[in-house]
Amino acid sequence: MRVAVVGCTHGALDAIYEHVTQINASTTNEHEQIQLILCCGDFESLRNPHDLTCKACPPKYRHMNTFPEYYRGEKRAPILTVFIGGNHEASNYLRELYYGGWVAPNIFYLGVAGVINVGGLRIAGLSGIYGRRRYHHGFFEREPYDDKMLKSIYCVRELNVFQLGLLKPSNRLDAILSHDWPRGIERHGDLGGLLAVRPDFQTSIDVDRFGNPGGEMLLSKLQPANWLAGHMHVHFEATVVHADGEDASTTDDQVSTRFLGLDKCSSNGACVEIVDFETPASVQTEDLRIMMDEEWLAVLRKTHHLLSTTRHKIRLPREPVEITDEDLAWVRSRVEEKTGRGECDSKLKGEWPTDFVRTAPALGDVDENEVRLNMGNPQTDAFLDLLELPHIVT
Ligand code: 5GP
Ligand code: MN
Repeated sequence: MRVAVVGCTHGALDAIYEHVTQINASTTNEHEQIQLILCCGDFESLRNPHDLTCKACPPKYRHMNTFPEYYRGEKRAPILTVFIGGNHEASNYLRELYYGGWVAPNIFYLGVAGVINVGGLRIAGLSGIYGRRRYHHGFFEREPYDDKMLKSIYCVRELNVFQLGLLKPSNRLDAILSHDWPRGIERHGDLGGLLAVRPDFQTSIDVDRFGNPGGEMLLSKLQPANWLAGHMHVHFEATVVHADGEDASTTDDQVSTRFLGLDKCSSNGACVEIVDFETPASVQTEDLRIMMDEEWLAVLRKTHHLLSTTRHKIRLPREPVEITDEDLAWVRSRVEEKTGRGECDSKLKGEWPTDFVRTAPALGDVDENEVRLNMGNPQTDAFLDLLELPHIVT
């Protein structure tokens, strides 16, 4: 399947969709059609002026951009778009959708961490960037966000890295998306060439402050076929050949990971890169749907109780946590029971259970300045109900 991959999106949806639509119009070969767009953070799903106050950024970048028209339904994403969060986001909106969901029709957020299956591809994501001082803490940020909270809400938490780390490396991942790069990735590509373009990276590399240690752990443990990232505003390729550890996959096709660091978007959408993924021939990709991942649901069911909304450090279990066949069987029968019929008639079995739901006014609405603090989102409630988990109380 042909996929368009985007680095920091910065709200430039019109430019990206125009660019991708043009590429698709230039060929009649159905195998050359871009079917999916993956965005690696700094997406900026800003709905209204209040959301803009929930985004960390210097004043000169405080613009609404094109998202409100997609949120209002005036424009529709022409191609299914999946994104993770970065460090410039409508942090209040993304917090509503902690476990993921639709931020607008055809635009899906993977959550603080998430795994989905789409068109036969299995894709995981980790939102945010590494921040040493926040890594172990709970999700304490509440609106109104002060300056400190604005800069901590997007920091990657160890809990989410731990959860992704519970996936079995033998279950193939086609790609992992992160915003900042996994620590140490620069050593697996043309480091000299990178430093020639970005000499400013040298200092942080020298003091080992370059990249995300959580990402580094997940890369070596999960050994995805691809790792896609943004944030550093430069194109960089690397190939990580994994040493055969105890956990390492023994299948021949997954001993190396291709890393692609993407440049940021310019206004003409030129940041889009095309990646061809191998998909099983049996998969029909014309009508792509977001399918939930059984193993990931089992991980969440087993670890949701660790989620804390206080400032305290989250104590992770000392004993190894194992996802058992019983855990997977529970998820399978629950998903069969709850999706694909009844209330979710329009959904396939295992499909993401909800549609987009508007929870705030959009720019241009009469009530565009109405402030709604610490909103929940019916999509999150429905997802937690599906897994028979308690709702997140903030
Ligand atoms: P953002 O797009 O999130 O505002 O910021 C990313 C910018 O910070 C990029 O220009 C990137 O090159 C720079 N940056 C992020 N992390 C590091 C780092 O560890 N070292 C250096 N030198 N620059 C960084
Ligand atoms: Mn960034």
